[in-house]
Amino acid sequence: MSSRVETGRSTSTYREPAAELPDAAGRFGAYGGRYAPEALMAALTELAEAYRLARADPAFGIELETLLRERAGRPTRLHRVPGFERLLGVPGVRVYVKREDMAHTGAYKINNALGQGLLAARMGKTRVIAETGAGQHGVAVASVCAMLGLDCVVYMGAHDMARQEANVAHMRVLGAEVRRVDAGGRKVKAAVSEAVRDWVSSTGSSFLLFGTVTGPAPYPAMVRDFQTVIGRESRRQLLAATGRLPDRVVACVGGGSNALGLFHAFLDEPDVALIGVEAAGRGIESGQHAAAITAGIPGELDGTFSYLLQDADGQVSRTHSIAAGLDYPAVGPEHGYLRDRGRVRYHAVTDATALRGFQAFARGEGIVPALESAHAIGHLLESAERGELPADSLVLLGLSGRGDKDLGIVAVTLPEA
Ligand SMILES: *Cc1c(COP(=O)(O)O)cnc(C)c1O
Repeated sequence: MSSRVETGRSTSTYREPAAELPDAAGRFGAYGGRYAPEALMAALTELAEAYRLARADPAFGIELETLLRERAGRPTRLHRVPGFERLLGVPGVRVYVKREDMAHTGAYKINNALGQGLLAARMGKTRVIAETGAGQHGVAVASVCAMLGLDCVVYMGAHDMARQEANVAHMRVLGAEVRRVDAGGRKVKAAVSEAVRDWVSSTGSSFLLFGTVTGPAPYPAMVRDFQTVIGRESRRQLLAATGRLPDRVVACVGGGSNALGLFHAFLDEPDVALIGVEAAGRGIESGQHAAAITAGIPGELDGTFSYLLQDADGQVSRTHSIAAGLDYPAVGPEHGYLRDRGRVRYHAVTDATALRGFQAFARGEGIVPALESAHAIGHLLESAERGELPADSLVLLGLSGRGDKDLGIVAVTLPEA
């Protein structure tokens, strides 16, 4: 974790305390923990112990590295986007994009799916349970289960099944059973509840393969660890290309796993600004958004304590985002900690801005980004327009996934597209 590259302008020996978290109780300062039904406590302890042993076992690391290289296509590419730089219109600005959209199954989700899938096999589990929002996590898990010979059940909200049909078909083709969830908002929050309910009655045979950095300990730290490969590669690739560290690193934040995976390699570098971009939906003031950090207050959801969108009575709010993968009322606990310390800054951009980001990459670069990733792109457009992106900035932009799944949504929203 602390294999530091000593080239570039950084000679800092400063260590961000966040790099050492969580503590033994799974807490990141005031956030995190393990809020779970009694029936799951033994299973969570078993999982935490199995993960601790796997992490310490070089054979596990080698097996995972091999799969990431041979099956996921890592390292993913990092390259400049000159067409987008011209569009930003900021003198001397350079933007390097980390292409997680080019990973197997079309998003960075495969990193964590492979890590936890290997752990499930190592623990002797035969059945994997997952939740999914946009379907990218479900597709990654379905692919890994096919690869490793595990049964796979994916819970998905009915609303998300309708808007991400291609991914539903994709999961089924890969042999997963997709279970439709009609409860609540019929989105990822409801799917999480159903996946956890399934696990309560099947902990002996089943492994709950969580897709983001939330949930009870050990999930937030484990998912983060499996995603830090994104930042480690990016740091090495950017140093090789430019000889220096970035001025700012930008990634979209739903639950927050692709962002943490990218940010962690730069946490100890106080000169590198880290920026998380949430979904402002139809605007924060409309109340129809999913900006948990920007507009939420700390509370408990899905086994952890973190920033959460809730009303005055503590009822969890309904959310909206054009990006199904960002349409969740909470954010992982480590983000709460990083926000309060001021180490990561969070912004929210609307559906409309995300669509502008989508088009900018599609037409300017020939890259069709996921609508989730388009929020990070849109934030850069806005920053440039507001004069908040200094001349000669070196920007590292996380492109979390590809947008094939979103073509139907974009086609109706942008008739001229
Ligand atoms: C799942 C997903 C996200 C959001 O999840 P995080 O945990 O916040 O990273 C973003 N982009 C894509 C392409 C996704 O599939």
